[in-house]
Amino acid sequence: KTWAHCGVSKKVLEVLKKHNYEKPTPIQAQAIPVIMSGRDVIGIAKTGSGKTVAFLLPMLRHILDQHPLEAEDGPIGIVMTPTRELAMQITKECKKFTKSLGLRAVCVYGGTGISEQIAELKRGAEVIVCTPGRMIDMLAANSGRVTNLRRCTYVVLDEADRMFDMGFEPQVMRIIDSTRPDRQTVMFSATFPRQMEALARRVLTKPVEVQV
Ligand code: AMP
Repeated sequence: KTWAHCGVSKKVLEVLKKHNYEKPTPIQAQAIPVIMSGRDVIGIAKTGSGKTVAFLLPMLRHILDQHPLEAEDGPIGIVMTPTRELAMQITKECKKFTKSLGLRAVCVYGGTGISEQIAELKRGAEVIVCTPGRMIDMLAANSGRVTNLRRCTYVVLDEADRMFDMGFEPQVMRIIDSTRPDRQTVMFSATFPRQMEALARRVLTKPVEVQV
């Protein structure tokens, strides 16, 4: 399987080449075409599988297919992940691509001052990568004038099982409820325990399950 089979653009292909991502990993080869087709997906994959690129590339294409953001618009894509380290890692991966696509990604995580993150968001961002608790604070900041998810139509739950274990389900649900009902939702998890089935049913529409 090649990148051409994944339907990536020329600019994205250049970034992939530059970082020596010669060919898609198995989870990328399986998940990217399905996500690009617009379906909701449950991907069962661990860290190290290349799952980040698997949900990022379809997100960036989804964003480029939309009207550009207006000044007051919040992001089109949001990635939720359980820890600050993961949020920073995903943002780093994302920025490799957003830079050459003229898009902006902002990382929102707790345990540090919120004002710099607010300032960044106010400059505008197509993508937010966040931890759920700080994202709730961000949505409430300045009486909701910092950002909003009214244009958000691409939602990723990364390491969903860990977010669930860490008790983030209420925050995740509140964030999802602030996005558009016609969104595309993608969930990646190392495991898919029974207790997560109800959550998956509530947030995903006829998901395709991809496992490697
Ligand atoms: P992840 O599972 O998303 O945390 O990715 C694991 C590592 O694999 C990261 O350091 C990525 O930069 C790298 N990676 C992702 N996709 C590819 C690829 N197609 N070829 C080579 N390395 C990759």
